[in-house]
Amino acid sequence: MDEKQTSSTNFIREIIEEDLRNNKNNGRVHTRFPPEPNGYLHIGHAKAICLNFGIARDYNGLCNLRFDDTNPSKEDVEYVDSIIEDVRWLGFDWGDRMYYASDYFQQLYEFAIELIKKGKAYVDPSSPEEIREHKGTLSEPGKESPYRNRPIEESLDLFIKMKEGKFEDGSYVLRAKIDMSSPNIHMRDPVIYRIKRVTHHRTGDKWCIYPMYDYAHPLSDWIEGITHSLCTLEFEIHRPLYDWFLEALELENRPRQIEFARLNLSYTVMSKRKLLELVEEGIVSGWDDPRMPTICGLRRRGYTPESIRNFADKIGISKRDSLTDVALLEHSIREDLNKRAQRVMAVLNPLKVIITNYPEGKVEELEAVNNPEDPSMGKRKIYFSREIYVERDDFREDPPKDFHRLFPGNEVRLKYAYIIKCNEVIKDSSGNIIELHCTYDPETKSGSGSKRSVKGTIHWVSIPHSFDAEVRLYDRLFLVENPLAVEGKDFKELINPDSLKILKNCKIESNFINVKPGDRFQFERLGYFCVDLDSTDSYKVFNRTVSLKDTWAKIEKKN
Ligand code: ATP
Ligand code: MG
Repeated sequence: MDEKQTSSTNFIREIIEEDLRNNKNNGRVHTRFPPEPNGYLHIGHAKAICLNFGIARDYNGLCNLRFDDTNPSKEDVEYVDSIIEDVRWLGFDWGDRMYYASDYFQQLYEFAIELIKKGKAYVDPSSPEEIREHKGTLSEPGKESPYRNRPIEESLDLFIKMKEGKFEDGSYVLRAKIDMSSPNIHMRDPVIYRIKRVTHHRTGDKWCIYPMYDYAHPLSDWIEGITHSLCTLEFEIHRPLYDWFLEALELENRPRQIEFARLNLSYTVMSKRKLLELVEEGIVSGWDDPRMPTICGLRRRGYTPESIRNFADKIGISKRDSLTDVALLEHSIREDLNKRAQRVMAVLNPLKVIITNYPEGKVEELEAVNNPEDPSMGKRKIYFSREIYVERDDFREDPPKDFHRLFPGNEVRLKYAYIIKCNEVIKDSSGNIIELHCTYDPETKSGSGSKRSVKGTIHWVSIPHSFDAEVRLYDRLFLVENPLAVEGKDFKELINPDSLKILKNCKIESNFINVKPGDRFQFERLGYFCVDLDSTDSYKVFNRTVSLKDTWAKIEKKN
């Protein structure tokens, strides 16, 4: 990645700059990205990744990748592998600092022993229901457990037995001894260890007790020497607990937790649990379905890492939750591909045109611009012949007013070629239009200096110089901006039925017969497309990344 790239400032960067000025942490900046491997990463995670790795990059610091794998029942190596791939693909590097919270299970256990010895944790046999009941409410204090004040020795003995597998799952928990009447419910003696006989994807059956997130997280941060622990707003209310563990254990050089607003994106859902439902119920084809907001879905759709990083920078970092318009994400990929994508002539809904005054068997070479935004990409040869395809939609038998493309008696320019005139519409016995008969004006070749102009220009491909392809047109996955906020409806009832349209008879300019999965193009006048993973040498499949119409640019103009 370009080393000089820096991101715009925000309140977290201001805090870090202040800390640097005060030589806090001896001038060190160390962040981490701590995904739980219970699903694939999504565009919201990309925001957190760009924030954490971007800060490390810009302040001469370090950023760790840490798997927060304290809940083995939902976690899996499949997710670990995908997370590694996705963070790398986004362009970030954790050096040799890839860690797992499970690497710290022994140390976390020893910290727990220490808390018990300090009289700051106790073993409780109360059932989960009892514990919940005694938690109290926002307006009512909680009730102290009858076991809260049991002797330290007793708790110590029980906790060791919990670890040794002497008790049934769920029969005992270790709780922090804080304050059952705290106005903050998270401080009312939270559970920090539970017994759970689940095989862990890394530690196997070594442990039958597992630490809770709120306990494992600050201590993992401390173990790694994290200075700034950045997380989303829902953890703000957990911050006193984060600090409490570090204080109770009298640890020095404590990390500081700072919260920021999570990314919410319109017309999609972001929670891994919800995304998993879409996958498991077959509503999408998998985590990498190009309609998914996952990083692998966006990659398959044709998004570039640069466009996602630019998007993350544009949305910024704030303390207030909001809903980001997906049009901004689409704008980011258009902006990137506009500069880079090779232009291609492709016809998605072909209508055959015979140019009746063009000699049979003649083939002409014409010049096409590879990318008008980047002259260094040069030009290429394209071929013209008597039989071509145009887009069905560029022809109307009864054109509306202001329609400047093909209709009987009208002229249109074929991009990079000639002006043609539509003379005759050929139909089959049931009245379907099967081809058009046109004539061309040989004096109007593009680039020949011809002065004659017409109002419309359309794209086309020469029939003998095109190949067949499947094109998948993707649209927003949901019909409404916020599918989780529609009363009385499950979000899965709000899927956009037109979010995927498959066209099997598309015609692509033959220059591109050798494309490979991942290649990205602009199909002239149609949008940006990317070769899908399902594509083979003999059967080409293209995904539409995004159409050309930039609704975001329009919104920006209006404001
Ligand atoms: P989800 O709620 O989508 O299932 P999560 O928060 O449980 O996600 P984690 O794996 O715990 O997912 O997240 C790893 C990091 O990414 C955390 O620091 C979390 O705060 C951050 N993160 C998760 N979702 C978003 C989001 N939508 N926007 C910004 N950061 C996010
Ligand atoms: Mg989480």
